[in-house]
Amino acid sequence: MHLIFVTGGVVSGLGKGISTSSIAKVLKMKGFSATVMKIDPYINFDAGTLRPSEHGEVWVTEDGGETDQDLGNYERFTDTTLGKKHNVTTGQVFSTVIERERKGEYLGKTVQPIPHITDEIKKRIIDVADSTKADFVLIEIGGVVGDYENILFLETARQMKLENIPVVFVHVAYLPFLEKLGEIKSKPVQHSTRELLSLGIQPDFIICRSAMPIDDVRKEKIGLFCNIAKQNIIDNPDIGNIYELPLFFEEQDFGNKILKKFNIDAKPSDDIEWKNFVNILNNVDKTIKIGIVGKYFDIGGYKLLDSYVSVIEAVRHACAENQVSPDIRWIDSKDFEKYPSRLDDLKQLDGIIIPGGFGGSGVEGKISAIQYARENNIPYLGLCYGMQLAVIEFARNVCKLENAHSTEILPDCKNPVVDILPWQKEIIAKQNYGATMRLGGQIVKIKPGTLAYATYNKGNVIERFRHRYEINPDYVNILEKYGLIFSGSTPDETIKQIAELPGHKFFIASQFHPEFTSRPLKPNPLFDGFVKACIDLVR
Ligand code: GLN
Repeated sequence: MHLIFVTGGVVSGLGKGISTSSIAKVLKMKGFSATVMKIDPYINFDAGTLRPSEHGEVWVTEDGGETDQDLGNYERFTDTTLGKKHNVTTGQVFSTVIERERKGEYLGKTVQPIPHITDEIKKRIIDVADSTKADFVLIEIGGVVGDYENILFLETARQMKLENIPVVFVHVAYLPFLEKLGEIKSKPVQHSTRELLSLGIQPDFIICRSAMPIDDVRKEKIGLFCNIAKQNIIDNPDIGNIYELPLFFEEQDFGNKILKKFNIDAKPSDDIEWKNFVNILNNVDKTIKIGIVGKYFDIGGYKLLDSYVSVIEAVRHACAENQVSPDIRWIDSKDFEKYPSRLDDLKQLDGIIIPGGFGGSGVEGKISAIQYARENNIPYLGLCYGMQLAVIEFARNVCKLENAHSTEILPDCKNPVVDILPWQKEIIAKQNYGATMRLGGQIVKIKPGTLAYATYNKGNVIERFRHRYEINPDYVNILEKYGLIFSGSTPDETIKQIAELPGHKFFIASQFHPEFTSRPLKPNPLFDGFVKACIDLVR
Protein backbone atom coordinates (compact mmCIF):
# COMPACT_ATOMS: atom_id res chain seq x y z
CA MET A 1 0.00 0.00 0.00
CA HIS A 2 1.36 3.39 -1.06
CA LEU A 3 -0.75 6.41 -0.23
CA ILE A 4 -0.55 9.83 -1.84
CA PHE A 5 -2.56 12.53 -0.08
CA VAL A 6 -3.35 15.60 -2.14
CA THR A 7 -4.29 18.80 -0.31
CA GLY A 8 -5.29 22.20 -1.62
CA GLY A 9 -3.99 25.62 -0.71
CA VAL A 10 -5.04 29.27 -1.00
CA VAL A 11 -8.23 28.94 -3.07
CA SER A 12 -10.71 26.26 -4.02
CA GLY A 13 -11.53 25.43 -7.62
CA LEU A 14 -7.89 25.52 -8.66
CA GLY A 15 -7.91 22.18 -10.44
CA LYS A 16 -6.85 19.92 -7.61
CA GLY A 17 -8.94 17.11 -9.11
CA ILE A 18 -7.17 17.42 -12.46
CA SER A 19 -3.78 17.46 -10.72
CA THR A 20 -4.70 14.35 -8.73
CA SER A 21 -6.01 12.57 -11.83
CA SER A 22 -2.85 13.52 -13.72
CA ILE A 23 -0.58 12.09 -11.01
CA ALA A 24 -2.56 8.84 -11.18
CA LYS A 25 -2.23 8.87 -14.97
CA VAL A 26 1.54 9.44 -14.77
CA LEU A 27 1.90 6.43 -12.47
CA LYS A 28 -0.24 4.34 -14.81
CA MET A 29 1.91 5.36 -17.77
CA LYS A 30 4.82 3.91 -15.81
CA GLY A 31 3.05 0.58 -15.60
CA PHE A 32 1.68 0.81 -12.04
CA SER A 33 -1.92 0.47 -10.98
CA ALA A 34 -3.37 3.53 -9.31
CA THR A 35 -6.75 4.30 -7.86
CA VAL A 36 -8.16 7.56 -6.56
CA MET A 37 -10.47 8.61 -3.72
CA LYS A 38 -12.08 11.92 -2.89
CA ILE A 39 -12.83 12.95 0.67
CA ASP A 40 -15.41 15.71 0.87
CA PRO A 41 -15.92 17.74 4.02
CA TYR A 42 -19.66 18.36 3.63
CA ILE A 43 -22.33 16.71 5.78
CA ASN A 44 -24.41 15.49 2.82
CA PHE A 45 -24.14 11.72 2.69
CA ASP A 46 -23.41 11.95 -1.02
CA ALA A 47 -23.50 14.49 -3.84
CA GLY A 48 -26.95 13.35 -5.02
CA THR A 49 -28.75 15.98 -2.99
CA LEU A 50 -26.51 18.92 -4.00
CA ARG A 51 -27.55 21.47 -6.58
CA PRO A 52 -25.44 21.13 -9.76
CA SER A 53 -25.30 24.91 -10.25
CA GLU A 54 -23.71 25.20 -6.83
CA HIS A 55 -21.55 22.11 -6.64
CA GLY A 56 -21.13 20.94 -10.22
CA GLU A 57 -22.32 17.77 -11.84
CA VAL A 58 -23.31 14.67 -9.90
CA TRP A 59 -21.15 11.78 -11.14
CA VAL A 60 -22.82 8.37 -11.15
CA THR A 61 -20.63 5.35 -10.50
CA GLU A 62 -21.33 1.97 -11.99
CA ASP A 63 -22.37 0.63 -8.58
CA GLY A 64 -24.98 3.37 -8.26
CA GLY A 65 -23.13 5.98 -6.18
CA GLU A 66 -23.97 9.66 -6.64
CA THR A 67 -20.60 11.25 -6.14
CA ASP A 68 -18.47 14.32 -6.54
CA GLN A 69 -17.67 15.22 -10.15
CA ASP A 70 -13.96 14.66 -9.47
CA LEU A 71 -14.60 10.92 -9.66
CA GLY A 72 -15.45 11.54 -13.29
CA ASN A 73 -12.01 13.00 -13.88
CA TYR A 74 -10.37 10.12 -12.04
CA GLU A 75 -12.26 7.56 -14.17
CA ARG A 76 -11.54 9.43 -17.39
CA PHE A 77 -7.82 9.96 -16.76
CA THR A 78 -7.11 6.49 -15.44
CA ASP A 79 -9.67 4.57 -17.50
CA THR A 80 -10.89 2.65 -14.47
CA THR A 81 -14.28 2.00 -12.96
CA LEU A 82 -14.56 3.37 -9.44
CA GLY A 83 -17.20 2.52 -6.86
CA LYS A 84 -19.15 4.67 -4.45
CA LYS A 85 -16.71 4.00 -1.62
CA HIS A 86 -14.17 6.11 -3.51
CA ASN A 87 -16.06 9.19 -2.34
CA VAL A 88 -16.09 9.63 1.43
CA THR A 89 -17.98 12.49 3.06
CA THR A 90 -18.09 13.85 6.59
CA GLY A 91 -21.74 12.81 6.63
CA GLN A 92 -20.91 9.15 5.95
CA VAL A 93 -18.13 9.03 8.53
CA PHE A 94 -20.09 10.66 11.36
CA SER A 95 -23.25 8.69 10.72
CA THR A 96 -21.31 5.40 10.89
CA VAL A 97 -19.66 6.35 14.15
CA ILE A 98 -22.89 7.63 15.71
CA GLU A 99 -24.76 4.49 14.63
CA ARG A 100 -22.05 2.35 16.19
CA GLU A 101 -22.21 4.36 19.39
CA ARG A 102 -26.00 3.87 19.60
CA LYS A 103 -25.57 0.14 19.15
CA GLY A 104 -23.32 0.15 22.18
CA GLU A 105 -20.19 -0.80 20.30
CA TYR A 106 -18.11 1.71 22.24
CA LEU A 107 -19.83 0.99 25.57
CA GLY A 108 -18.15 2.78 28.46
CA LYS A 109 -15.92 4.87 26.22
CA THR A 110 -16.00 8.56 25.44
CA VAL A 111 -16.51 8.70 21.67
CA GLN A 112 -14.33 11.45 20.25
CA PRO A 113 -13.24 12.98 16.96
CA ILE A 114 -9.77 11.59 17.66
CA PRO A 115 -9.46 8.60 17.54
CA HIS A 116 -12.97 7.42 16.65
CA ILE A 117 -13.68 9.64 13.66
CA THR A 118 -10.11 9.48 12.39
CA ASP A 119 -10.12 5.69 12.77
CA GLU A 120 -13.27 5.45 10.67
CA ILE A 121 -11.69 7.61 7.94
CA LYS A 122 -8.59 5.41 8.03
CA LYS A 123 -10.71 2.30 7.77
CA ARG A 124 -12.36 3.62 4.62
CA ILE A 125 -9.02 4.42 2.98
CA ILE A 126 -7.57 1.02 3.87
CA ASP A 127 -10.72 -0.65 2.59
CA VAL A 128 -10.20 0.94 -0.86
CA ALA A 129 -6.50 0.02 -0.81
CA ASP A 130 -7.31 -3.59 0.11
CA SER A 131 -10.20 -4.10 -2.26
CA THR A 132 -8.54 -2.54 -5.32
CA LYS A 133 -5.07 -3.89 -4.52
CA ALA A 134 -3.77 -0.84 -6.40
CA ASP A 135 -0.06 -0.08 -6.19
CA PHE A 136 -0.95 3.52 -5.35
CA VAL A 137 -4.01 5.01 -3.70
CA LEU A 138 -4.36 8.76 -4.20
CA ILE A 139 -6.59 10.53 -1.72
CA GLU A 140 -7.72 14.02 -2.59
CA ILE A 141 -8.87 15.98 0.43
CA GLY A 142 -11.62 18.44 -0.45
CA GLY A 143 -11.47 22.11 0.47
CA VAL A 144 -8.42 24.15 1.35
CA VAL A 145 -5.88 23.78 4.16
CA GLY A 146 -6.97 26.18 6.89
CA ASP A 147 -10.66 25.28 6.61
CA TYR A 148 -12.25 24.03 9.82
CA GLU A 149 -14.14 21.43 7.91
CA ASN A 150 -11.38 19.18 6.63
CA ILE A 151 -9.14 19.20 9.67
CA LEU A 152 -10.00 15.66 10.77
CA PHE A 153 -9.13 14.35 7.33
CA LEU A 154 -5.75 16.06 7.46
CA GLU A 155 -5.23 14.69 10.96
CA THR A 156 -5.99 11.19 9.65
CA ALA A 157 -3.39 11.63 6.92
CA ARG A 158 -0.82 12.73 9.48
CA GLN A 159 -1.52 9.69 11.65
CA MET A 160 -1.23 7.29 8.73
CA LYS A 161 2.28 8.52 8.02
CA LEU A 162 3.11 8.12 11.72
CA GLU A 163 1.93 4.50 11.53
CA ASN A 164 4.72 3.79 9.06
CA ILE A 165 2.45 3.39 6.09
CA PRO A 166 4.34 4.70 3.02
CA VAL A 167 2.73 8.11 2.53
CA VAL A 168 3.57 11.03 0.26
CA PHE A 169 1.97 14.46 0.62
CA VAL A 170 1.32 16.68 -2.37
CA HIS A 171 0.12 20.22 -1.75
CA VAL A 172 -1.53 21.98 -4.70
CA ALA A 173 -1.55 25.72 -4.10
CA TYR A 174 -2.40 28.82 -6.04
CA LEU A 175 0.09 31.58 -6.83
CA PRO A 176 -1.63 34.78 -7.90
CA PHE A 177 -0.23 36.89 -10.72
CA LEU A 178 -0.53 40.57 -9.85
CA GLU A 179 -0.91 42.35 -13.12
CA LYS A 180 -0.02 45.78 -11.76
CA LEU A 181 3.30 44.45 -10.48
CA GLY A 182 3.79 42.05 -13.37
CA GLU A 183 4.75 39.44 -10.80
CA ILE A 184 3.69 36.07 -9.44
CA LYS A 185 3.43 36.17 -5.64
CA SER A 186 4.49 33.23 -3.51
CA LYS A 187 3.40 34.51 -0.08
CA PRO A 188 -0.02 32.77 -0.08
CA VAL A 189 1.59 29.38 -0.81
CA GLN A 190 4.10 29.96 1.97
CA HIS A 191 1.29 30.69 4.42
CA SER A 192 -0.82 27.76 3.38
CA THR A 193 2.18 25.42 3.69
CA ARG A 194 2.92 26.85 7.12
CA GLU A 195 -0.66 26.03 8.08
CA LEU A 196 -0.09 22.46 6.87
CA LEU A 197 3.17 22.27 8.84
CA SER A 198 1.34 23.42 11.96
CA LEU A 199 -0.91 20.37 11.55
CA GLY A 200 2.15 18.15 11.50
CA ILE A 201 2.21 17.60 7.75
CA GLN A 202 5.33 18.33 5.72
CA PRO A 203 4.47 18.31 2.01
CA ASP A 204 6.84 16.26 -0.14
CA PHE A 205 5.80 18.17 -3.25
CA ILE A 206 4.21 21.51 -3.92
CA ILE A 207 2.32 21.88 -7.17
CA CYS A 208 2.22 25.54 -8.16
CA ARG A 209 -1.05 26.40 -9.86
CA SER A 210 -0.57 29.70 -11.57
CA ALA A 211 -1.01 31.58 -14.80
CA MET A 212 2.52 30.66 -15.93
CA PRO A 213 5.46 28.47 -14.91
CA ILE A 214 7.36 29.62 -11.83
CA ASP A 215 10.93 30.88 -12.29
CA ASP A 216 13.93 29.48 -10.44
CA VAL A 217 14.29 32.45 -8.11
CA ARG A 218 10.78 31.99 -6.80
CA LYS A 219 11.12 28.22 -6.60
CA GLU A 220 14.16 28.68 -4.36
CA LYS A 221 12.22 31.05 -2.17
CA ILE A 222 9.22 28.73 -1.90
CA GLY A 223 11.60 25.85 -1.18
CA LEU A 224 13.33 27.75 1.60
CA PHE A 225 10.15 28.92 3.30
CA CYS A 226 8.23 25.70 2.82
CA ASN A 227 11.07 23.38 3.80
CA ILE A 228 11.19 21.55 0.54
CA ALA A 229 13.82 20.84 -2.16
CA LYS A 230 13.55 23.04 -5.23
CA GLN A 231 13.21 20.13 -7.64
CA ASN A 232 10.09 18.99 -5.77
CA ILE A 233 8.25 22.15 -6.64
CA ILE A 234 6.21 21.25 -9.69
CA ASP A 235 4.74 23.65 -12.22
CA ASN A 236 1.10 23.52 -13.19
CA PRO A 237 0.41 26.66 -15.21
CA ASP A 238 -2.86 27.43 -17.01
CA ILE A 239 -3.15 25.16 -20.01
CA GLY A 240 -5.91 25.08 -22.59
CA ASN A 241 -6.33 21.34 -22.51
CA ILE A 242 -6.59 19.44 -19.21
CA TYR A 243 -5.42 16.19 -20.80
CA GLU A 244 -2.03 17.76 -21.38
CA LEU A 245 -1.26 17.95 -17.68
CA PRO A 246 0.06 14.37 -17.24
CA LEU A 247 2.52 15.06 -20.10
CA PHE A 248 3.51 18.35 -18.55
CA PHE A 249 4.13 16.57 -15.23
CA GLU A 250 6.20 13.97 -17.06
CA GLU A 251 8.37 16.67 -18.63
CA GLN A 252 9.28 17.58 -15.06
CA ASP A 253 9.94 13.91 -14.23
CA PHE A 254 7.28 14.13 -11.53
CA GLY A 255 6.46 10.42 -11.74
CA ASN A 256 10.00 9.29 -10.97
CA LYS A 257 10.33 11.89 -8.24
CA ILE A 258 7.27 10.37 -6.56
CA LEU A 259 8.67 6.85 -6.98
CA LYS A 260 11.92 8.00 -5.38
CA LYS A 261 10.04 9.24 -2.30
CA PHE A 262 8.65 5.71 -1.96
CA ASN A 263 12.10 4.20 -2.58
CA ILE A 264 10.93 2.64 -5.83
CA ASP A 265 13.29 2.62 -8.83
CA ALA A 266 12.66 5.09 -11.64
CA LYS A 267 10.74 3.76 -14.65
CA PRO A 268 10.18 5.01 -18.20
CA SER A 269 6.69 6.06 -19.26
CA ASP A 270 4.62 4.70 -22.08
CA ASP A 271 2.77 7.80 -23.17
CA ILE A 272 2.52 7.44 -26.95
CA GLU A 273 -1.24 6.90 -27.15
CA TRP A 274 -1.97 9.72 -24.74
CA LYS A 275 0.35 12.07 -26.63
CA ASN A 276 -1.46 11.25 -29.86
CA PHE A 277 -4.80 11.96 -28.27
CA VAL A 278 -3.59 15.30 -26.88
CA ASN A 279 -2.06 16.21 -30.26
CA ILE A 280 -5.34 15.67 -32.03
CA LEU A 281 -7.20 17.75 -29.45
CA ASN A 282 -4.69 20.56 -29.85
CA ASN A 283 -4.14 20.51 -33.57
CA VAL A 284 -7.21 19.66 -35.64
CA ASP A 285 -8.65 22.57 -37.53
CA LYS A 286 -11.99 21.22 -38.70
CA THR A 287 -14.62 22.42 -36.27
CA ILE A 288 -18.19 21.32 -35.65
CA LYS A 289 -20.77 23.47 -33.91
CA ILE A 290 -22.66 21.67 -31.20
CA GLY A 291 -25.44 23.31 -29.26
CA ILE A 292 -26.10 22.12 -25.72
CA VAL A 293 -29.55 23.21 -24.70
CA GLY A 294 -29.98 23.24 -20.94
CA LYS A 295 -30.77 25.36 -17.95
CA TYR A 296 -28.02 25.17 -15.35
CA PHE A 297 -25.83 27.75 -17.00
CA ASP A 298 -26.01 30.77 -14.76
CA ILE A 299 -25.22 31.35 -11.14
CA GLY A 300 -25.28 35.03 -10.37
CA GLY A 301 -23.22 36.64 -13.09
CA TYR A 302 -21.29 33.49 -14.00
CA LYS A 303 -21.87 30.70 -16.42
CA LEU A 304 -21.32 27.45 -14.60
CA LEU A 305 -20.30 24.82 -17.08
CA ASP A 306 -19.32 22.41 -14.32
CA SER A 307 -22.90 21.14 -14.29
CA TYR A 308 -22.30 19.47 -17.64
CA VAL A 309 -18.63 18.58 -17.43
CA SER A 310 -19.05 14.93 -18.44
CA VAL A 311 -21.15 15.85 -21.45
CA ILE A 312 -18.47 18.28 -22.61
CA GLU A 313 -15.73 15.69 -22.10
CA ALA A 314 -17.70 12.98 -23.90
CA VAL A 315 -18.10 15.34 -26.86
CA ARG A 316 -14.35 16.03 -26.83
CA HIS A 317 -13.49 12.32 -26.75
CA ALA A 318 -15.76 11.60 -29.73
CA CYS A 319 -14.43 14.63 -31.60
CA ALA A 320 -10.81 13.51 -31.09
CA GLU A 321 -11.75 10.09 -32.43
CA ASN A 322 -13.12 11.75 -35.57
CA GLN A 323 -10.35 14.34 -35.93
CA VAL A 324 -12.57 17.37 -35.43
CA SER A 325 -12.74 19.95 -32.74
CA PRO A 326 -15.98 20.94 -30.99
CA ASP A 327 -17.21 24.49 -30.88
CA ILE A 328 -19.75 24.15 -28.08
CA ARG A 329 -22.55 26.72 -27.89
CA TRP A 330 -24.42 27.01 -24.62
CA ILE A 331 -28.06 27.65 -25.23
CA ASP A 332 -30.40 28.51 -22.39
CA SER A 333 -33.70 26.82 -23.20
CA LYS A 334 -35.63 29.53 -21.35
CA ASP A 335 -34.67 31.93 -24.17
CA PHE A 336 -36.83 29.98 -26.63
CA GLU A 337 -39.80 30.43 -24.32
CA LYS A 338 -39.31 34.20 -24.24
CA TYR A 339 -38.19 34.68 -27.85
CA PRO A 340 -39.43 31.78 -30.05
CA SER A 341 -37.82 33.32 -33.15
CA ARG A 342 -34.41 32.44 -31.67
CA LEU A 343 -35.11 28.84 -32.62
CA ASP A 344 -33.92 29.76 -36.08
CA ASP A 345 -30.43 30.26 -34.65
CA LEU A 346 -30.31 26.47 -34.28
CA LYS A 347 -30.06 26.21 -38.06
CA GLN A 348 -26.36 27.07 -37.98
CA LEU A 349 -25.56 24.15 -35.68
CA ASP A 350 -24.17 20.80 -36.82
CA GLY A 351 -25.82 19.00 -33.93
CA ILE A 352 -27.93 19.50 -30.80
CA ILE A 353 -27.66 17.81 -27.40
CA ILE A 354 -30.18 18.02 -24.60
CA PRO A 355 -28.63 16.74 -21.39
CA GLY A 356 -30.19 15.45 -18.18
CA GLY A 357 -32.35 17.66 -16.02
CA PHE A 358 -35.07 17.88 -13.43
CA GLY A 359 -38.20 19.96 -12.94
CA GLY A 360 -40.21 22.27 -15.12
CA SER A 361 -37.96 25.26 -15.69
CA GLY A 362 -37.01 25.72 -19.33
CA VAL A 363 -38.79 22.52 -20.39
CA GLU A 364 -41.03 24.03 -23.08
CA GLY A 365 -37.97 25.68 -24.64
CA LYS A 366 -36.19 22.33 -24.75
CA ILE A 367 -39.21 20.68 -26.36
CA SER A 368 -39.28 23.39 -29.07
CA ALA A 369 -35.56 22.85 -29.73
CA ILE A 370 -36.16 19.09 -30.14
CA GLN A 371 -39.00 19.75 -32.55
CA TYR A 372 -36.69 22.01 -34.53
CA ALA A 373 -33.97 19.34 -34.66
CA ARG A 374 -36.48 16.69 -35.72
CA GLU A 375 -38.14 18.77 -38.41
CA ASN A 376 -34.91 20.23 -39.81
CA ASN A 377 -32.90 17.01 -39.88
CA ILE A 378 -30.28 18.32 -37.42
CA PRO A 379 -28.45 15.47 -35.59
CA TYR A 380 -29.91 15.13 -32.10
CA LEU A 381 -28.65 13.35 -29.02
CA GLY A 382 -30.94 13.30 -25.98
CA LEU A 383 -29.57 12.28 -22.61
CA CYS A 384 -32.07 11.06 -20.00
CA TYR A 385 -34.36 14.10 -19.70
CA GLY A 386 -33.40 14.70 -23.32
CA MET A 387 -35.05 11.35 -24.18
CA GLN A 388 -38.16 11.92 -22.10
CA LEU A 389 -38.70 15.34 -23.67
CA ALA A 390 -38.07 13.98 -27.19
CA VAL A 391 -40.82 11.43 -26.62
CA ILE A 392 -43.15 14.14 -25.29
CA GLU A 393 -42.42 16.27 -28.38
CA PHE A 394 -43.15 13.33 -30.67
CA ALA A 395 -46.35 12.49 -28.81
CA ARG A 396 -47.59 16.06 -29.00
CA ASN A 397 -46.61 16.99 -32.53
CA VAL A 398 -46.62 13.71 -34.45
CA CYS A 399 -49.11 11.49 -32.59
CA LYS A 400 -51.23 14.58 -31.82
CA LEU A 401 -51.71 13.53 -28.22
CA GLU A 402 -53.04 16.65 -26.65
CA ASN A 403 -51.14 17.98 -23.64
CA ALA A 404 -48.75 15.07 -23.62
CA HIS A 405 -46.33 15.59 -20.76
CA SER A 406 -44.39 14.06 -17.91
CA THR A 407 -46.04 13.61 -14.54
CA GLU A 408 -42.83 15.05 -13.05
CA ILE A 409 -44.01 18.43 -14.36
CA LEU A 410 -47.77 18.04 -14.69
CA PRO A 411 -48.90 15.31 -12.26
CA ASP A 412 -52.46 15.06 -13.60
CA CYS A 413 -51.81 15.71 -17.28
CA LYS A 414 -54.16 14.24 -19.87
CA ASN A 415 -51.55 12.15 -21.67
CA PRO A 416 -48.78 11.15 -19.27
CA VAL A 417 -46.38 9.71 -21.85
CA VAL A 418 -43.63 9.97 -19.26
CA ASP A 419 -44.63 8.67 -15.86
CA ILE A 420 -43.00 7.81 -12.60
CA LEU A 421 -41.41 4.36 -12.31
CA PRO A 422 -43.98 2.40 -10.26
CA TRP A 423 -41.63 1.64 -7.36
CA GLN A 424 -40.58 5.30 -7.18
CA LYS A 425 -44.12 6.40 -6.17
CA GLU A 426 -43.77 5.27 -2.60
CA ILE A 427 -40.33 6.84 -2.29
CA ILE A 428 -41.63 10.23 -3.42
CA ALA A 429 -44.68 9.95 -1.12
CA LYS A 430 -42.31 9.45 1.80
CA GLN A 431 -40.09 12.28 0.55
CA ASN A 432 -37.18 9.94 0.86
CA TYR A 433 -34.98 11.63 -1.73
CA GLY A 434 -31.40 10.52 -0.95
CA ALA A 435 -29.92 7.83 -3.25
CA THR A 436 -33.37 6.52 -4.17
CA MET A 437 -33.47 7.07 -7.94
CA ARG A 438 -32.89 4.24 -10.39
CA LEU A 439 -29.11 4.45 -10.23
CA GLY A 440 -25.93 3.07 -11.71
CA GLY A 441 -24.98 0.56 -14.37
CA GLN A 442 -27.84 -1.49 -15.83
CA ILE A 443 -28.03 -3.78 -18.84
CA VAL A 444 -29.56 -2.24 -21.95
CA LYS A 445 -30.81 -4.69 -24.55
CA ILE A 446 -30.43 -3.31 -28.06
CA LYS A 447 -32.73 -4.23 -30.93
CA PRO A 448 -30.97 -5.61 -34.00
CA GLY A 449 -31.47 -3.68 -37.22
CA THR A 450 -31.71 -0.28 -35.53
CA LEU A 451 -29.43 2.77 -35.59
CA ALA A 452 -28.59 2.07 -31.94
CA TYR A 453 -27.47 -1.42 -32.89
CA ALA A 454 -25.35 -0.11 -35.76
CA THR A 455 -23.86 2.44 -33.39
CA TYR A 456 -23.01 0.05 -30.54
CA ASN A 457 -22.47 -2.95 -32.76
CA LYS A 458 -23.70 -5.28 -30.05
CA GLY A 459 -26.88 -6.50 -28.47
CA ASN A 460 -26.26 -5.87 -24.78
CA VAL A 461 -24.47 -2.93 -23.19
CA ILE A 462 -24.11 -1.61 -19.66
CA GLU A 463 -24.82 2.08 -19.24
CA ARG A 464 -25.36 4.26 -16.16
CA PHE A 465 -28.72 5.64 -15.10
CA ARG A 466 -30.05 8.30 -12.75
CA HIS A 467 -33.78 8.85 -13.03
CA ARG A 468 -37.22 8.40 -11.42
CA TYR A 469 -39.44 8.63 -14.50
CA GLU A 470 -39.80 6.39 -17.54
CA ILE A 471 -41.60 6.19 -20.88
CA ASN A 472 -45.11 5.17 -19.88
CA PRO A 473 -45.57 1.59 -21.20
CA ASP A 474 -49.23 2.40 -22.00
CA TYR A 475 -48.12 4.78 -24.75
CA VAL A 476 -45.45 2.65 -26.39
CA ASN A 477 -47.83 1.18 -29.00
CA ILE A 478 -49.16 4.48 -30.23
CA LEU A 479 -45.68 6.07 -30.32
CA GLU A 480 -44.40 3.12 -32.34
CA LYS A 481 -47.42 3.25 -34.63
CA TYR A 482 -46.45 6.79 -35.62
CA GLY A 483 -42.88 5.76 -36.34
CA LEU A 484 -40.82 6.19 -33.19
CA ILE A 485 -38.52 3.21 -32.66
CA PHE A 486 -37.63 2.00 -29.20
CA SER A 487 -34.27 0.47 -29.98
CA GLY A 488 -33.14 -0.19 -26.40
CA SER A 489 -34.90 -1.59 -23.35
CA THR A 490 -34.38 -3.47 -20.11
CA PRO A 491 -33.57 -7.16 -20.78
CA ASP A 492 -37.23 -8.06 -20.07
CA GLU A 493 -38.27 -5.29 -22.49
CA THR A 494 -40.59 -3.64 -19.94
CA ILE A 495 -38.77 -0.30 -19.68
CA LYS A 496 -37.79 1.48 -22.87
CA GLN A 497 -34.29 2.92 -22.71
CA ILE A 498 -33.43 4.21 -26.18
CA ALA A 499 -35.67 5.97 -28.69
CA GLU A 500 -34.70 6.79 -32.26
CA LEU A 501 -36.26 8.19 -35.42
CA PRO A 502 -35.80 6.41 -38.73
CA GLY A 503 -35.26 8.55 -41.81
CA HIS A 504 -33.50 11.25 -39.82
CA LYS A 505 -29.79 12.00 -40.16
CA PHE A 506 -29.25 10.97 -36.54
CA PHE A 507 -31.88 11.21 -33.84
CA ILE A 508 -31.17 9.09 -30.79
CA ALA A 509 -32.14 9.63 -27.20
CA SER A 510 -31.26 7.44 -24.25
CA GLN A 511 -32.76 7.07 -20.80
CA PHE A 512 -29.22 6.51 -19.48
CA HIS A 513 -26.26 8.87 -19.44
CA PRO A 514 -23.73 7.68 -22.03
CA GLU A 515 -21.39 10.51 -20.97
CA PHE A 516 -20.45 8.52 -17.84
CA THR A 517 -18.84 5.71 -19.81
CA SER A 518 -16.96 7.87 -22.29
CA ARG A 519 -13.17 7.90 -22.00
CA PRO A 520 -10.32 9.56 -23.84
CA LEU A 521 -9.35 7.10 -26.61
CA LYS A 522 -12.60 5.18 -26.02
CA PRO A 523 -15.51 7.48 -26.81
CA ASN A 524 -18.99 6.28 -25.99
CA PRO A 525 -20.58 4.89 -29.19
CA LEU A 526 -23.63 7.19 -29.00
CA PHE A 527 -21.43 10.30 -28.82
CA ASP A 528 -19.22 8.87 -31.55
CA GLY A 529 -22.22 8.21 -33.80
CA PHE A 530 -23.60 11.68 -33.08
CA VAL A 531 -20.30 13.39 -33.95
CA LYS A 532 -19.99 11.31 -37.13
CA ALA A 533 -23.47 12.48 -38.13
CA CYS A 534 -22.51 16.09 -37.32
CA ILE A 535 -19.63 15.89 -39.77
CA ASP A 536 -21.78 14.06 -42.30
CA LEU A 537 -19.81 10.85 -42.20
CA VAL A 538 -21.99 8.12 -43.53
CA ARG A 539 -21.55 4.95 -41.53
N1 GLN B 1 -36.07 14.20 -14.28
C1 GLN B 1 -36.01 12.99 -15.04
C2 GLN B 1 -36.21 11.77 -14.17
O1 GLN B 1 -36.05 11.83 -12.97
C3 GLN B 1 -34.71 12.89 -15.79
C4 GLN B 1 -33.52 12.74 -14.92
C5 GLN B 1 -32.22 13.01 -15.61
O2 GLN B 1 -32.16 13.64 -16.65
N2 GLN B 1 -31.13 12.56 -15.01
O3 GLN B 1 -36.55 10.73 -14.64
